[in-house]
Amino acid sequence: MMINELKLKAFAKINLVLDITGRREDGYHDLCSVMQEIGLYDTVVLRKVPSGVHLKVEFDDGVERGFSLVPDDTNNLAYRAAELLLADAKAEGGVEIVLHKNIPVAAGLAGGSTDAATVLRGLNVLYDLYYDSRRLCELGVKLGADVPFCIMGGTALAEGIGEKLQAMPIPGSVCVLLAKPPVAVSTKEVYQAYDRLLETDPPKPADMEQVRAAIGKGDAEAITSCLYNALALVTEPLHPEIVHLREEIMKEGAKGALMSGSGPSVFGLYEDLQEAKAAAGRLQERFPNTFFAAVPFCYNHKELD
Ligand code: ATP
Repeated sequence: MMINELKLKAFAKINLVLDITGRREDGYHDLCSVMQEIGLYDTVVLRKVPSGVHLKVEFDDGVERGFSLVPDDTNNLAYRAAELLLADAKAEGGVEIVLHKNIPVAAGLAGGSTDAATVLRGLNVLYDLYYDSRRLCELGVKLGADVPFCIMGGTALAEGIGEKLQAMPIPGSVCVLLAKPPVAVSTKEVYQAYDRLLETDPPKPADMEQVRAAIGKGDAEAITSCLYNALALVTEPLHPEIVHLREEIMKEGAKGALMSGSGPSVFGLYEDLQEAKAAAGRLQERFPNTFFAAVPFCYNHKELD
Protein backbone atom coordinates (compact mmCIF):
# COMPACT_ATOMS: atom_id res chain seq x y z
CA MET A 1 0.00 0.00 0.00
CA MET A 2 1.31 3.45 -0.90
CA ILE A 3 1.63 5.73 2.13
CA ASN A 4 0.99 9.41 1.45
CA GLU A 5 0.70 10.71 4.98
CA LEU A 6 2.29 9.98 8.35
CA LYS A 7 1.50 11.28 11.82
CA LEU A 8 4.41 10.94 14.23
CA LYS A 9 5.28 11.81 17.79
CA ALA A 10 8.51 13.76 18.33
CA PHE A 11 9.63 13.01 21.89
CA ALA A 12 11.62 15.34 24.15
CA LYS A 13 14.74 14.33 26.11
CA ILE A 14 16.30 15.08 29.44
CA ASN A 15 19.94 14.71 30.46
CA LEU A 16 20.34 12.40 33.45
CA VAL A 17 24.07 13.10 33.32
CA LEU A 18 25.74 15.96 31.49
CA ASP A 19 29.49 16.36 31.86
CA ILE A 20 31.69 18.59 29.71
CA THR A 21 34.93 16.82 28.91
CA GLY A 22 36.69 19.35 26.72
CA ARG A 23 36.53 22.36 24.48
CA ARG A 24 37.19 22.07 20.75
CA GLU A 25 38.92 24.43 18.33
CA ASP A 26 35.61 25.03 16.52
CA GLY A 27 33.95 26.34 19.70
CA TYR A 28 31.89 23.20 20.30
CA HIS A 29 32.31 21.33 23.58
CA ASP A 30 32.93 17.63 23.99
CA LEU A 31 30.49 16.07 26.36
CA CYS A 32 29.69 12.85 28.07
CA SER A 33 25.98 12.63 28.66
CA VAL A 34 23.30 10.10 29.49
CA MET A 35 20.23 11.13 27.56
CA GLN A 36 16.74 9.84 28.21
CA GLU A 37 13.73 10.04 25.92
CA ILE A 38 10.58 11.11 27.79
CA GLY A 39 6.85 10.97 27.04
CA LEU A 40 6.40 14.68 26.27
CA TYR A 41 6.04 15.23 22.53
CA ASP A 42 5.34 17.49 19.58
CA THR A 43 3.20 16.04 16.78
CA VAL A 44 4.47 16.00 13.21
CA VAL A 45 2.24 15.31 10.22
CA LEU A 46 4.02 14.68 6.91
CA ARG A 47 2.16 14.66 3.59
CA LYS A 48 3.66 13.91 0.22
CA VAL A 49 3.24 16.79 -2.26
CA PRO A 50 4.59 17.14 -5.83
CA SER A 51 7.42 19.52 -4.92
CA GLY A 52 9.02 21.77 -2.32
CA VAL A 53 8.89 21.87 1.48
CA HIS A 54 5.85 23.55 3.03
CA LEU A 55 5.63 24.12 6.77
CA LYS A 56 2.80 25.07 9.08
CA VAL A 57 3.48 25.53 12.80
CA GLU A 58 0.57 25.21 15.25
CA PHE A 59 0.30 25.45 19.03
CA ASP A 60 -2.29 25.80 21.77
CA ASP A 61 -2.42 28.71 24.17
CA GLY A 62 -1.78 28.19 27.86
CA VAL A 63 1.23 28.65 30.08
CA GLU A 64 3.92 30.46 28.12
CA ARG A 65 6.24 27.89 26.56
CA GLY A 66 8.08 30.21 24.16
CA PHE A 67 6.20 29.13 21.04
CA SER A 68 6.54 32.64 19.59
CA LEU A 69 10.27 31.88 19.21
CA VAL A 70 9.59 29.02 16.79
CA PRO A 71 10.28 30.08 13.20
CA ASP A 72 7.74 29.01 10.57
CA ASP A 73 10.16 29.45 7.67
CA THR A 74 13.37 27.89 6.35
CA ASN A 75 15.02 28.40 9.77
CA ASN A 76 12.78 25.83 11.39
CA LEU A 77 14.74 22.64 12.07
CA ALA A 78 11.85 20.52 10.77
CA TYR A 79 11.98 22.42 7.48
CA ARG A 80 15.77 22.15 7.28
CA ALA A 81 15.66 18.41 7.97
CA ALA A 82 13.19 17.86 5.12
CA GLU A 83 15.22 19.93 2.69
CA LEU A 84 18.43 18.15 3.66
CA LEU A 85 17.09 14.61 3.30
CA LEU A 86 15.09 15.19 0.11
CA ALA A 87 18.15 16.77 -1.53
CA ASP A 88 20.51 14.06 -0.28
CA ALA A 89 18.21 11.33 -1.62
CA LYS A 90 17.47 13.27 -4.82
CA ALA A 91 13.83 12.44 -4.12
CA GLU A 92 11.27 13.38 -6.73
CA GLY A 93 8.65 15.18 -4.74
CA GLY A 94 8.20 17.37 -1.71
CA VAL A 95 6.48 17.41 1.64
CA GLU A 96 3.94 19.38 3.58
CA ILE A 97 4.78 19.45 7.29
CA VAL A 98 2.27 20.34 9.97
CA LEU A 99 4.16 20.75 13.23
CA HIS A 100 2.11 20.95 16.40
CA LYS A 101 4.38 22.27 19.18
CA ASN A 102 3.92 21.13 22.74
CA ILE A 103 7.50 20.85 24.07
CA PRO A 104 8.65 24.12 25.72
CA VAL A 105 11.11 26.01 23.49
CA ALA A 106 14.74 26.85 24.34
CA ALA A 107 14.29 24.80 27.47
CA GLY A 108 17.04 22.16 27.37
CA LEU A 109 14.55 19.53 26.16
CA ALA A 110 15.76 19.26 22.53
CA GLY A 111 12.42 20.41 21.08
CA GLY A 112 13.79 21.56 17.73
CA SER A 113 16.17 18.60 17.44
CA THR A 114 13.42 16.05 17.98
CA ASP A 115 11.23 17.70 15.33
CA ALA A 116 14.16 17.47 12.89
CA ALA A 117 14.84 13.83 13.83
CA THR A 118 11.18 12.93 13.36
CA VAL A 119 11.04 14.53 9.93
CA LEU A 120 14.14 12.54 8.91
CA ARG A 121 12.63 9.26 10.16
CA GLY A 122 9.25 9.98 8.65
CA LEU A 123 10.47 10.99 5.21
CA ASN A 124 12.68 7.91 5.18
CA VAL A 125 9.47 5.85 5.37
CA LEU A 126 7.25 8.08 3.23
CA TYR A 127 9.72 8.08 0.34
CA ASP A 128 10.97 4.48 0.79
CA LEU A 129 14.54 5.71 1.12
CA TYR A 130 15.87 2.81 3.24
CA TYR A 131 18.53 4.94 4.95
CA ASP A 132 19.80 3.07 8.00
CA SER A 133 19.96 4.85 11.38
CA ARG A 134 23.68 5.49 11.05
CA ARG A 135 23.18 7.36 7.78
CA LEU A 136 20.21 9.30 9.15
CA CYS A 137 22.34 10.27 12.16
CA GLU A 138 25.18 11.48 9.91
CA LEU A 139 22.73 13.81 8.20
CA GLY A 140 21.05 14.74 11.48
CA VAL A 141 24.19 15.92 13.25
CA LYS A 142 24.55 18.61 10.56
CA LEU A 143 21.35 20.12 11.98
CA GLY A 144 22.26 19.89 15.66
CA ALA A 145 24.25 17.89 18.19
CA ASP A 146 21.12 16.41 19.82
CA VAL A 147 19.54 15.20 16.55
CA PRO A 148 21.30 11.78 16.44
CA PHE A 149 20.05 10.91 19.93
CA CYS A 150 16.54 12.01 18.97
CA ILE A 151 16.69 9.66 15.97
CA MET A 152 17.71 6.73 18.19
CA GLY A 153 15.63 7.51 21.31
CA GLY A 154 15.56 5.35 24.45
CA THR A 155 18.45 5.71 26.88
CA ALA A 156 21.93 6.39 25.52
CA LEU A 157 25.38 7.55 26.40
CA ALA A 158 26.31 10.42 24.08
CA GLU A 159 29.91 11.51 23.55
CA GLY A 160 31.80 13.77 21.16
CA ILE A 161 29.45 16.68 20.50
CA GLY A 162 26.59 14.18 20.81
CA GLU A 163 27.16 12.15 17.67
CA LYS A 164 28.86 9.14 19.31
CA LEU A 165 25.98 7.16 20.75
CA GLN A 166 25.89 3.98 22.75
CA ALA A 167 22.54 2.47 23.75
CA MET A 168 22.21 1.87 27.50
CA PRO A 169 19.91 -0.48 29.39
CA ILE A 170 16.46 1.02 29.63
CA PRO A 171 15.51 1.93 33.21
CA GLY A 172 12.36 0.37 34.66
CA SER A 173 9.27 2.30 35.60
CA VAL A 174 10.72 5.75 36.18
CA CYS A 175 8.61 8.88 35.73
CA VAL A 176 9.53 12.50 35.49
CA LEU A 177 7.96 15.69 36.66
CA LEU A 178 9.07 18.44 34.30
CA ALA A 179 9.07 22.14 35.06
CA LYS A 180 9.96 24.97 32.68
CA PRO A 181 10.13 28.27 34.59
CA PRO A 182 9.59 31.56 32.71
CA VAL A 183 13.33 32.27 32.64
CA ALA A 184 15.36 32.84 29.49
CA VAL A 185 18.74 31.14 29.59
CA SER A 186 21.33 31.93 26.95
CA THR A 187 23.10 28.67 26.04
CA LYS A 188 26.06 30.68 24.75
CA GLU A 189 26.43 32.58 28.04
CA VAL A 190 26.16 29.33 30.00
CA TYR A 191 29.00 27.75 28.03
CA GLN A 192 31.13 30.91 28.32
CA ALA A 193 30.63 30.92 32.09
CA TYR A 194 31.53 27.23 32.17
CA ASP A 195 34.75 27.91 30.24
CA ARG A 196 35.73 30.51 32.84
CA LEU A 197 35.01 28.01 35.61
CA LEU A 198 37.24 25.45 33.84
CA GLU A 199 40.12 27.92 33.98
CA THR A 200 39.68 28.87 37.64
CA ASP A 201 38.13 25.92 39.45
CA PRO A 202 37.65 22.88 37.18
CA PRO A 203 34.88 20.56 38.45
CA LYS A 204 35.78 16.94 38.99
CA PRO A 205 34.66 14.69 36.12
CA ALA A 206 31.59 12.47 36.52
CA ASP A 207 32.44 8.88 37.50
CA MET A 208 31.16 7.05 34.42
CA GLU A 209 31.65 3.59 35.93
CA GLN A 210 29.31 4.56 38.73
CA VAL A 211 26.89 6.04 36.19
CA ARG A 212 26.84 2.82 34.15
CA ALA A 213 26.17 0.74 37.26
CA ALA A 214 23.35 3.05 38.37
CA ILE A 215 21.67 3.14 34.96
CA GLY A 216 22.07 -0.65 34.76
CA LYS A 217 20.21 -1.01 38.06
CA GLY A 218 17.51 1.12 36.58
CA ASP A 219 15.26 2.26 39.42
CA ALA A 220 14.58 5.87 40.35
CA GLU A 221 16.72 5.64 43.48
CA ALA A 222 19.76 4.25 41.66
CA ILE A 223 19.45 6.81 38.88
CA THR A 224 19.11 9.59 41.42
CA SER A 225 22.49 8.62 42.85
CA CYS A 226 24.18 9.54 39.56
CA LEU A 227 22.23 12.66 38.50
CA TYR A 228 24.78 15.31 37.47
CA ASN A 229 24.78 18.39 35.26
CA ALA A 230 28.04 20.32 34.97
CA LEU A 231 26.22 23.26 33.37
CA ALA A 232 24.02 23.65 36.46
CA LEU A 233 27.17 24.74 38.32
CA VAL A 234 27.11 27.97 36.31
CA THR A 235 23.43 28.30 35.34
CA GLU A 236 21.97 27.97 38.82
CA PRO A 237 23.96 30.87 40.35
CA LEU A 238 22.85 33.05 37.40
CA HIS A 239 19.17 32.08 37.83
CA PRO A 240 18.20 31.42 41.48
CA GLU A 241 14.62 30.61 40.32
CA ILE A 242 16.00 27.31 38.98
CA VAL A 243 17.45 26.37 42.39
CA HIS A 244 14.19 27.32 44.09
CA LEU A 245 12.14 25.19 41.70
CA ARG A 246 14.49 22.23 42.12
CA GLU A 247 14.16 22.47 45.91
CA GLU A 248 10.38 22.73 45.70
CA ILE A 249 10.23 19.64 43.48
CA MET A 250 12.29 17.73 46.07
CA LYS A 251 9.86 18.83 48.80
CA GLU A 252 7.09 17.36 46.64
CA GLY A 253 8.51 13.87 47.05
CA ALA A 254 10.87 13.50 44.08
CA LYS A 255 13.70 10.98 44.58
CA GLY A 256 16.07 13.43 42.92
CA ALA A 257 15.89 16.61 40.83
CA LEU A 258 18.18 18.27 38.30
CA MET A 259 18.32 20.92 35.59
CA SER A 260 18.16 19.49 32.05
CA GLY A 261 20.69 20.47 29.36
CA SER A 262 21.63 24.15 29.55
CA GLY A 263 18.33 24.83 31.32
CA PRO A 264 16.13 26.33 32.47
CA SER A 265 13.95 23.18 32.65
CA VAL A 266 14.19 21.19 35.85
CA PHE A 267 13.03 17.61 36.30
CA GLY A 268 12.27 15.43 39.30
CA LEU A 269 12.27 11.62 39.26
CA TYR A 270 9.40 9.54 40.67
CA GLU A 271 8.52 5.86 40.69
CA ASP A 272 4.81 6.44 40.33
CA LEU A 273 3.18 8.49 37.55
CA GLN A 274 0.08 9.32 39.63
CA GLU A 275 2.33 10.65 42.39
CA ALA A 276 4.26 12.77 39.85
CA LYS A 277 0.98 14.10 38.40
CA ALA A 278 -0.37 15.01 41.83
CA ALA A 279 2.88 16.83 42.66
CA ALA A 280 2.73 18.68 39.31
CA GLY A 281 -0.85 19.78 40.08
CA ARG A 282 0.12 21.17 43.48
CA LEU A 283 3.16 22.97 42.09
CA GLN A 284 1.12 24.43 39.21
CA GLU A 285 -1.15 26.18 41.71
CA ARG A 286 1.83 27.79 43.41
CA PHE A 287 3.80 28.60 40.23
CA PRO A 288 1.13 29.62 37.69
CA ASN A 289 3.67 30.90 35.14
CA THR A 290 5.73 27.73 35.11
CA PHE A 291 4.88 24.89 32.72
CA PHE A 292 4.55 21.52 34.47
CA ALA A 293 4.05 18.05 33.05
CA ALA A 294 4.34 14.54 34.48
CA VAL A 295 5.33 11.86 31.96
CA PRO A 296 7.02 8.44 31.97
CA PHE A 297 10.45 7.66 30.58
CA CYS A 298 9.74 6.60 27.06
CA TYR A 299 11.19 4.10 24.58
CA ASN A 300 8.65 3.82 21.81
CA HIS A 301 10.32 6.30 19.57
CA LYS A 302 9.68 4.42 16.39
CA GLU A 303 5.96 4.16 17.03
CA LEU A 304 3.67 5.38 14.22
CA ASP A 305 0.12 6.58 14.87
P1 ATP B 1 18.64 21.59 23.18
O1 ATP B 1 18.14 20.89 24.40
O2 ATP B 1 18.86 20.67 21.99
O3 ATP B 1 19.76 22.54 23.42
P2 ATP B 1 16.47 23.44 23.42
O4 ATP B 1 15.35 22.64 23.95
O5 ATP B 1 17.25 24.22 24.44
O6 ATP B 1 17.43 22.49 22.63
P3 ATP B 1 14.87 24.31 21.19
O7 ATP B 1 13.52 24.17 21.79
O8 ATP B 1 15.29 23.32 20.19
O9 ATP B 1 15.98 24.44 22.33
O10 ATP B 1 14.92 25.79 20.59
C1 ATP B 1 16.10 26.53 20.38
C2 ATP B 1 15.85 27.53 19.25
O11 ATP B 1 15.73 26.82 18.01
C3 ATP B 1 14.55 28.31 19.37
O12 ATP B 1 14.74 29.52 20.04
C4 ATP B 1 14.09 28.51 17.93
O13 ATP B 1 14.44 29.79 17.46
C5 ATP B 1 14.88 27.50 17.09
N1 ATP B 1 14.04 26.49 16.40
C6 ATP B 1 14.16 26.09 15.12
N2 ATP B 1 13.30 25.11 14.81
C7 ATP B 1 12.60 24.84 15.92
C8 ATP B 1 11.56 23.91 16.23
N3 ATP B 1 11.07 23.05 15.31
N4 ATP B 1 11.08 23.91 17.49
C9 ATP B 1 11.60 24.74 18.43
N5 ATP B 1 12.56 25.67 18.19
C10 ATP B 1 13.07 25.71 16.96
